[in-house]
Amino acid sequence: MTLDVISSKELSKIDPVFGQISFDNHEQIVFCNDKDTGLKAIIGIHNTVLGPALGGTRMWAYNNEWEALNDVLRLSRGMTFKSAITGLNLGGGKAVIIGDAKTQKTPELMKKFGEFVHSLSGRYITAEDVGMTTEDMDTVREVTPYVTGISENKGGAGNPSPITAYGVFMGMKAAAKFKYGSDVLEDKSVFVQGIGHVGESLVEHLMNEGAKVTIADINQERLEEVRAKYDVTIYGGQDLFNEPMDIYAPCALGATINDATIHKLQADIIAGAANNQLEDEVKHGRLLQERGILYAPDFLINAGGIINVYAELENYDKQEIMRKTENIYNTTLEIFDRAKANNVTTNVAAMSLAKERIETRKREQQ
Ligand code: NAD
Repeated sequence: MTLDVISSKELSKIDPVFGQISFDNHEQIVFCNDKDTGLKAIIGIHNTVLGPALGGTRMWAYNNEWEALNDVLRLSRGMTFKSAITGLNLGGGKAVIIGDAKTQKTPELMKKFGEFVHSLSGRYITAEDVGMTTEDMDTVREVTPYVTGISENKGGAGNPSPITAYGVFMGMKAAAKFKYGSDVLEDKSVFVQGIGHVGESLVEHLMNEGAKVTIADINQERLEEVRAKYDVTIYGGQDLFNEPMDIYAPCALGATINDATIHKLQADIIAGAANNQLEDEVKHGRLLQERGILYAPDFLINAGGIINVYAELENYDKQEIMRKTENIYNTTLEIFDRAKANNVTTNVAAMSLAKERIETRKREQQ
């Protein structure tokens, strides 16, 4: 439908920004356009109560602008809660650039994007996400200081994946402690789905602990590479949701807990790195609770990456990064206790703790 065939009555029903399903009282949404470089971007600033809104930039060939807008709204909101629950003085933000990163990304376009970021005077700080590289962040750094995830030789904090994996491992141990009374993972059967940057690093921690690890990936070469390094089993079946296991660690894509899988899953615990593991937070969170499967909220246990980026802003050393990441263990246990005490899902308990931190700071600021 084009604008000229929509009546003003219909237009008034659409509410193009503030009426979007993913709109959640975002503070600011910035639409960026530059004819010369072809840049079309949206910066979403969800909440800055705890600090500047920090979150990566995603470059993606969205089917239309609605998709891009919804993505930036959803992702920036997620960053608010991830940083809040981790105890970082950061708000939530995210940016999307509309286009194919392989064919449409140029240094000029990245610099122009950096200028838009700069125009926000630090209310939004960018970083890497899908379609971006450390080199792209270095390019943005040429025009603005409000960027993280730059190269180590330029003062950046380097690859976040091992830190993310360590945080996931901490969250998994906390889940084991809550479920089995001990956080020792020796002899526990763990299925790691997706053995990319984070997954492989997680496998290493699990092997050191003596867990029985099975790995699954769509990339056969990766499976062989990882098996050559560690004493793991490659999953050879058709559907890992039909397999009995102690712990399921989703480390590939999101939404693997969905209507098709949730009733089959035979695990005691879900703890992994993937973002948005539950296709429907409310419905699938509740179903897991009913089935007695303990879910370690993804945005809590995969926060190692944002801790690593935060370190760049605060000039933390590696020790402080590890200490903060280790603390994911305590926070995860706190969430499980809260969920049990209030008879709510672990996801709801995690969100409520994050919101409390924001509300407390808001009151202090008044
Ligand atoms: P990656 O791209 O390095 O690895 C992903 C792996 O998953 C690849 O080996 C890929 O082949 C595999 N995969 C894709 N689809 C699959 C499928 N259907 N079944 C099995 N395997 C499949 O990504 P990563 O950096 O390791 O991140 C993994 C997940 O963790 C992502 O969801 C990411 O958003 C999330 N995450 C990563 C970080 C980080 O620091 N890298 C931080 C927070 C969250």
